[in-house]
Amino acid sequence: MIVLDGVTPPSGGTGCLHSVPWFTARLGGALTELTVSVRDLTLSEILARAIRRTADVHADTCELSHPRTPQATVALTRWSATEVEYLVLSDAALLLRGPDGTVTPVLDDRLARLPRSALATDALVDANLRNKEGGFFTAAADPAVAARAVTGTLPRQEVRALAALTDGATRWTETFREGDWTALFDLVAKEGARSLVERVRELETADREERAFLGRGKTHDDATVAYVEL
Ligand SMILES: [Zn+2]
Repeated sequence: MIVLDGVTPPSGGTGCLHSVPWFTARLGGALTELTVSVRDLTLSEILARAIRRTADVHADTCELSHPRTPQATVALTRWSATEVEYLVLSDAALLLRGPDGTVTPVLDDRLARLPRSALATDALVDANLRNKEGGFFTAAADPAVAARAVTGTLPRQEVRALAALTDGATRWTETFREGDWTALFDLVAKEGARSLVERVRELETADREERAFLGRGKTHDDATVAYVEL
């Protein structure tokens, strides 16, 4: 399961001839193919390879070191008969429901994590500086960022269902505080992904003038929810 959220660049150049949808379609296509075709690679390795493959497509025509080069947040899962693998990069969210009903969020809570010295390569420092402008690490043109993703593997029997969400959809919990992650998961499981998105849209519209919750953020943000029962 793959959920990508293209990062809308602020006005101004991106150094790239291509659009953000062009980028996410290619990155998503590469991830779709690689998660199936190379099962011996970890999800981090697959993300790195997909970023590199996508970058190679336009390395000759575009300035890929530009800080606003097209980029995306990533939630990626893969399961087999025995295990469930997951990867989250940037502000996407992944929710895992166990057999006892417990919902565990997998979040890329970057500020809470210390930098690991093993990652202090020149390439990563560049990626670090470049991504600092946007405030988080995203899948852009540098494969090294894949090592920054939050990843893990669980026995298959410990995951009964999972949901991947973009930050526009997690607003229900994180911005509007309508309920915790378990309540959000229950809503999606019972009423479907569309219902969650519709509720977020209603909350956003209601807060459009007062902005008690939205602050100076944009009124609407791309909201995508993928839900799978194993
Ligand atoms: Zn390009």
